[in-house]
Amino acid sequence: MELRCHTLVCAHSKVGHKKHCRMQATCNHGTARYCDIDDNTPSSKFLKAISNPKLSRVAASRIAQFRLTHAPLNSYLKRIGRVDSARCPACGEDEESIEHFLLRCPNYAHKRWPLLQHARKKRKALSLKISLGDPQFMILLAVYIQATGRFPKPGEHSTTQSVNTVR
Ligand SMILES: [Zn+2]
Repeated sequence: MELRCHTLVCAHSKVGHKKHCRMQATCNHGTARYCDIDDNTPSSKFLKAISNPKLSRVAASRIAQFRLTHAPLNSYLKRIGRVDSARCPACGEDEESIEHFLLRCPNYAHKRWPLLQHARKKRKALSLKISLGDPQFMILLAVYIQATGRFPKPGEHSTTQSVNTVR
């Protein structure tokens, strides 16, 4: 069977995601990390969670981008040739990955606090799987993403060069 390396295949393929993941794990295009976030994407649970009326459409689509590992952060933008450097504009770390942005960037530590508190209440460590997979995190996650100011609202100009290049 031909190995395909496209994250969206999961949404439309009749191939079960776990089976698909095993296929991805054998390819070398970097999509295997997709499986670390959730092994059931996009689940109806997730789709229901981002349909939450408290979430704006912009916030919901931003979260979906994170889920699909297509968030316009510099590590992704560099991979698709939109920016020259994968560096985090907030703290200068070499790679602004999804994990770095959501869980590690020291510049957003204060804004991340509600997410950490919520994870603690649930007696879980904050991880990508939890923050992007648990519907109860969606609102907190949307608040966090907005609070960082990393992405401009529609019609606003970004303060970072990378976002300017993405529409
Ligand atoms: Zn950073």
